[in-house]
Amino acid sequence: MKLMPPTRNCKICFKQINNNDVCRLFNKNIEICSECQKAMNPLFISFSVLNYKAFAIYEYNDFIRKTIYQFKGCFDYELADVFIHNYAREIKLMFSKYTLVPIPSYQEDDELRGFNHVIEIYKKIGLKVLPILEKIEHHKQATKSAISREKIYKFLKLKKKIDLRKKDILIVDDIYTTGATIKSAINIIEKLNPRKIMVLVIAKTKTKSNNKQLIP
Ligand SMILES: [Zn+2]
Repeated sequence: MKLMPPTRNCKICFKQINNNDVCRLFNKNIEICSECQKAMNPLFISFSVLNYKAFAIYEYNDFIRKTIYQFKGCFDYELADVFIHNYAREIKLMFSKYTLVPIPSYQEDDELRGFNHVIEIYKKIGLKVLPILEKIEHHKQATKSAISREKIYKFLKLKKKIDLRKKDILIVDDIYTTGATIKSAINIIEKLNPRKIMVLVIAKTKTKSNNKQLIP
C-alpha cells in the first residue's frame, strides 16, 4: 500500500488541498490551496518610507482585505499563518539580523481579540519581536481624513525606554495605506539610534508611483 501524506484543508476556503497541488509539491506543509494563493497574489513590492527601504508581500486586494478581516475582526486565530507561511523561511533569511518591532493595536482591541494580530502574523518567522510601541488613545476618535492624519504623525509612543544601538530594526505591520502610522513608528525608532531600519508589511494599497515589483 502506498503511503499517502495526510489530507489537509485550505485554511481560507476549507477546500481539501489536492496532493498534486503545485504548491503542495514544493511545500508539504502548505496551509492554503493554490487558488487562494493565486487570489492573494504575492508580488513582493519594494517601496520606500521616509527614505527607508520597505517591502510588501501582497498588493492590497479584495481577497486580502477579506482574509485579514476574517483574521483580525472575526478572531479567526487559525488564519495567522496564511499570509507569510510560504515565505517565512525566505523572510527569516533576508532579515536574519533584524529585530521585529510590530505596529501596535489599541490595547482594548488586543484584549478583546485575545491576541495581537500583527505579532501573531510575524511570529512564524522566528525572529526576535520587541513590542515597544503603544498606540496613543486619543487618536482613536480622530478625524477620518487621511490628509489630516498624515500631518499629525503622532499615533504612537514608546512603551518603555530601550537602547537600540547596534540593532537592526524591521518595523512590521499588516496593511500599508497612507503610511502615517509607519512614519510615526520610524520617527520614534530613529531617535533610539538603531544601526538600520527597514519596513515589512503584508499588503500595500496600490499607488501610481513608488511601486517597484521585485518578482513578476
Ligand atoms: Zn483555498
